[in-house]
Amino acid sequence: NPPNRPPKCTWTLGSSAKSPHHHEVRKINNKISQTILENIGFTPIVRLNKIEKKFGLKCNLLAKCEFMNPGGSVKDRIALRMVEEAEREGKIKPGYTIIEPTSGNTGIGLALVAVVKGYRCIITMPDKMSINKDSMLKALGAEVIRCSSNVSFDSPESFFGVADKLQKKTENAIILNQFANPSNSLAHYDNIAEELLNQCDGKIDVLVAGAGTCGTLTGIGRKLKERIKDVKIIGVDPLRSVPSSTEYKVEGIGISFIPTVLDRTIVDQWHRCNDKDSFQCARYLIQEEGLLCGGSSGSALSIALLLAKDLSEDQTCVVILPDSIHNYMSTFINDDWMIEKGFMEDPSTANDLKPWW
Ligand code: PMP
Repeated sequence: NPPNRPPKCTWTLGSSAKSPHHHEVRKINNKISQTILENIGFTPIVRLNKIEKKFGLKCNLLAKCEFMNPGGSVKDRIALRMVEEAEREGKIKPGYTIIEPTSGNTGIGLALVAVVKGYRCIITMPDKMSINKDSMLKALGAEVIRCSSNVSFDSPESFFGVADKLQKKTENAIILNQFANPSNSLAHYDNIAEELLNQCDGKIDVLVAGAGTCGTLTGIGRKLKERIKDVKIIGVDPLRSVPSSTEYKVEGIGISFIPTVLDRTIVDQWHRCNDKDSFQCARYLIQEEGLLCGGSSGSALSIALLLAKDLSEDQTCVVILPDSIHNYMSTFINDDWMIEKGFMEDPSTANDLKPWW
């Protein structure tokens, strides 16, 4: 195991009363913000009316719009939480450098927090990630190092290996390490899960989310299981030819090792998504519901649709839409890209999504 990733979870996440962690509930700010960081979270949850009708669903199908965060993704929440926890513990001080290996969104969140708080930020990122993320990171003043996507995660050339090397040679540099940092799932446990419970009046039967670090699944899942009897937590991971492959094109999800952050007892079912359904579903969310989301949102929806068809009128399925269209202007939003990659045949029928069961 690389030095930053202990082999198994060394901490527990639990109800705030018994938890060993610092917990905090953020309050919505409808007035003038002192910084944009006050506006992280508090995202809308929207009913997918047209998709329910098109697919003949009886249940309520709801989307949590994490693409509406200031940095465009759910990862703004963990970026803020990891930095503020490190500040609280005295691990990071003015003038320090934040280094993070990330598929992009945690990097954008950290770059946003760093620019507001005045830290230097260096992001190591696999080269398969879109150029749009690269541009956004650089616009936020972060330094970006692209690393090979075709090496194993424990190779020195991987985005993990490069971040480790860089930390060793940079003075006062910290890797917050979203894959092992308890603040990752804590941010979801304390914040997004509370928002969901509030917004849905505690009525959620199925929650579907993509799996990357698994912070979203573990944090939300843990809180919902404490509060809702029989809620089902569904993890979505991309289909690939071999387990270590990074051949799939959807960004931000895909487990190539078991992250420390994942509590496997929380997830009731794992499902494999494929690229074509993921991108078509994401385009459908944009075209039919006006939700300007990214590809992994489509991955979650493609699996939610399979499960939702068996739910009844009084049941609710929530899908997490983790990031925004603006990461993907050069990829799945583009018809030529979709055709070139074999995810679409004819643009005129491209968005005519049909039930696949
Ligand atoms: N979708 C996207 C686009 C992401 O960037 C991420 C984070 N890597 C996820 C889904 C998965 O979130 P988590 O890391 O909490 O499992």
